[in-house]
Amino acid sequence: MTVLPLVLWPDERLQRGSDAVEQLSTDIATLVRDMFETMYAAPGRGLAAPQVGVMQRVFVMDATWKDGDPTPVACINPEIRIVDQAVCCNEEACLSIPGVSAKINRPKRIALEYTDVEGVRCSVELEGFAAVCAQHEMDHLEGRVIFDHLEPRARAELEDTYREMNA
Ligand code: ZN
Repeated sequence: MTVLPLVLWPDERLQRGSDAVEQLSTDIATLVRDMFETMYAAPGRGLAAPQVGVMQRVFVMDATWKDGDPTPVACINPEIRIVDQAVCCNEEACLSIPGVSAKINRPKRIALEYTDVEGVRCSVELEGFAAVCAQHEMDHLEGRVIFDHLEPRARAELEDTYREMNA
């Protein structure tokens, strides 16, 4: 297993959509293992393939390992459906945008459908931090980051802060 280098903002790979995985392969299995290794080392609770420079629709997450038992999930070709329009606001950080965070509103409850590494199509309902995490990682597959959720002025300020911190 390998800890992969992280792609950092404003790399253009964080700003464009990723391609569907056409076929499961040993390459994808290796990618998933390396992404878990990279996420735990960072340390983070979610990581999407574009964050390691791979423009494919894959993300990994483990919403619980920092506070208790690990619950690793690897999602290939994920899809999200909103179950409840109720929104909650959480402070979100991103491994590709180190040093800053933003309060972001997202639907509270979602259904996440994905193919696992064995090729089985799975469906789970998520709420709480797991729902936030899945939506954040899904954003990466569409080329969206936390900045894209902010009003123009708040975005400009946060981008300035990020540039100053990483100058
Ligand atoms: Zn992120």
